[in-house]
Amino acid sequence: MLALFTLVGIVSLQTQGLAQDSAESTLPTLEAAGLSLEELADGIYGLIASTDFPPQDPMVAICNGGIIIGNDGVVVVDPFHNKALGNLLLQTAATLTDQPVRYVINTHYHFDHTGGNPAASAQNLPILGRGPIREFMLTRNSETDPQVTPPEVIINGAWEVWLGDRQVQVREFDGHSGGTDLIVYIPDADVLMLGDLLFNQRIPYVGDGHIRTWQATLQELKVAYPTATLLPGHGPVTSEQGIETLLGFLNDLEALALGWQANGVTAEEAKATPIPDVYKDFLFQGLFPIALETAYQQITLGQDDATAMQAYLQAQSVQP
Ligand SMILES: [Zn+2]
Repeated sequence: MLALFTLVGIVSLQTQGLAQDSAESTLPTLEAAGLSLEELADGIYGLIASTDFPPQDPMVAICNGGIIIGNDGVVVVDPFHNKALGNLLLQTAATLTDQPVRYVINTHYHFDHTGGNPAASAQNLPILGRGPIREFMLTRNSETDPQVTPPEVIINGAWEVWLGDRQVQVREFDGHSGGTDLIVYIPDADVLMLGDLLFNQRIPYVGDGHIRTWQATLQELKVAYPTATLLPGHGPVTSEQGIETLLGFLNDLEALALGWQANGVTAEEAKATPIPDVYKDFLFQGLFPIALETAYQQITLGQDDATAMQAYLQAQSVQP
């Protein structure tokens, strides 16, 4: 676990203070928050974040949010990283429909998707998350977010809700966040909200994930939702091509790691690997060294559980 903290800590250091609500009384505009509202299908919207990471201003959203409107209620997805941005998501939903929000879903526990939960709890809206999300948020996110507000409704397995005549399905998949990843699917519109199982045109955050599980998940998603409109956790709306590109990135990472293994490359040398040209235009370039380090641990060394990672990091004298 300590080793996971170390990797999370790298990101946490870059984001100190972002989760704190520095402008609680002020609702930013979508534009000021770096968000654009995009209709994915009739009554289904994405709030698409365009910032690089880390953002220059705590009022700029890092991840994408979702709004699903039925004829009897609304579900919103991922209320960003602080209360003001969470309020912005709820307020945006209110500008689109008179229907009330019934549920707020966290696609996983990472702070940029859950730090806005206090906006939901202030309105007594139930917040849903998966598996160990409470434990993870209360131990890990609380380091940087004094207002950490974990979901109080825990999904273990499949979950569905009807918003009048529109069904919303929640399903569990793994690979990005150590057992809290879920996806949100709207069958009538063939729209899939993937959380951080999909980064599009961004270097993915791999440091809390499991590369080979993630590869398998992406293959499954391609088969299960071949024609869906995809809302990634980060980056523009896409289709199956977006899954292919992330899978290609993870496959490239795996190939690098196997090459290091075959050639006896040290961790230090591996971590200095330059980013391949094909990914040079992606945002979140600062996350690439974390991807290299994770690939070295999980694939080159074959140490893909937390205990083994801890032993590795201690051996490398990497301090948490
Ligand atoms: Zn994430």
